[in-house]
Amino acid sequence: TPAAERPHPVDMTDRRGDHLWRPYTQMKHAAAPLEAVATSGSRITLGDGRELIDGIASWWTAVHGYNHPHIRDAVADQLGRMPHVMFGGLTHAPAERLAARLAALLPGALNHVFFTDSGSVAVEVALKMAVQLWLNRGITGRTRVLAFRGGYHGDTMGAMSACDPDEGMHRRFGAYLPSQVFCELPRTAALEADLDAALVAHRHELAAVIVEPLVQGAGGMLMHPPEVLATIEKLSRRHGLPLIADEIFTGFGRTGSLFACEQAGVTPDILCLSKALTGGTLALAATIATTEIFSQFWSDDPAHALMHGPTFMANPLACAAANASLDLFEVEPRLVQAGAIGRSLTAGLAPVRSKQGIADVRVLGAIGVVQFEKAPDLAALKQRFIARGVWVRPFGDIVYLTPALTISEGDLEELIAAVCEVAAAAA
Ligand code: PLP
Repeated sequence: TPAAERPHPVDMTDRRGDHLWRPYTQMKHAAAPLEAVATSGSRITLGDGRELIDGIASWWTAVHGYNHPHIRDAVADQLGRMPHVMFGGLTHAPAERLAARLAALLPGALNHVFFTDSGSVAVEVALKMAVQLWLNRGITGRTRVLAFRGGYHGDTMGAMSACDPDEGMHRRFGAYLPSQVFCELPRTAALEADLDAALVAHRHELAAVIVEPLVQGAGGMLMHPPEVLATIEKLSRRHGLPLIADEIFTGFGRTGSLFACEQAGVTPDILCLSKALTGGTLALAATIATTEIFSQFWSDDPAHALMHGPTFMANPLACAAANASLDLFEVEPRLVQAGAIGRSLTAGLAPVRSKQGIADVRVLGAIGVVQFEKAPDLAALKQRFIARGVWVRPFGDIVYLTPALTISEGDLEELIAAVCEVAAAAA
């Protein structure tokens, strides 16, 4: 049928006619999504002219605010030269430069950068590296990873297999996924002993340990002190297992340091980045391995090569955006801004703690979380925020703020006031 003759599906009361299949949504009952037409700074402009203050920086990505002119100019410049070229057998300056800069910024010998196009795939690559590492050493049977309860690592099969197996959103897929080993984070001496025992019990089948450093994000914004991460590193080393740090949420200032691992003095063997890597402008992810790990793929045997290569890996526009984002970290005081946001969140959210129905209020870096005693009506909660001119995305039993690190004091005050007001009413 010619496009003009097709009926245009705009009936929002029965959205089966809608061509878009939306993420994480039971579309039959969900309100129609709001249309965004423009973004600037910390604001989203809607089709009906309303403006919302974004309290979560576009799923934790837009650390410099939306539409930063420096990133926009860098992408426009790259667009004129070479928007994309395949990466098999070819290379280009934006990727070479970005890889070198990431290697310089990351701790220790994390020097070898594999680019992909989403956080989930960065985790897949990390898992493949870990499994193949053992095969390249001539050791078979090491096909599982040890992951932590409360964790979230993405929506693809391998990444899903490392998410919390009982509470996580992917639990229904259990039977289809590789079977991993799960432990509690070692927050106490007893839990440390449990982790140690699990590492011993599964010593012939484990390929790696994977963890979200300092905060388990999509699993519930669950924070842990640096000592817990240091304990995980210690035990991984003791048992000769590579440590994979998933910094897809925490990377680029969110926890107050450029990378969360730094706060524990931990250097993982493999580290995953995405989200804020391009300042939230284009799809890009990176899996970075130490020279020690990379060396085990460097061989006369072709079978020792890493067999992975997404079509759009190292997209030049995305690499140009990421290089521009790193420029901004060099010339603008993002970590100072993250610290100031943390202090405002701590002071501003404190009064909520004593309200009825509130289980916890916690802050780490530029992340502020209010947890309810029982899960509130999320749709109603979201509507209240929107009516107040605020864009947030409460989930489970929490509402949280992860604003752009560049957010103005006024907008941050407005976000905090909205959370205090709405949380008190919802509890
Ligand atoms: N790992 C962590 C820690 C994340 O927070 C996310 C996304 O929220 C992912 C992996 C998956 O990233 P993506 O949504 O880009 O696939």
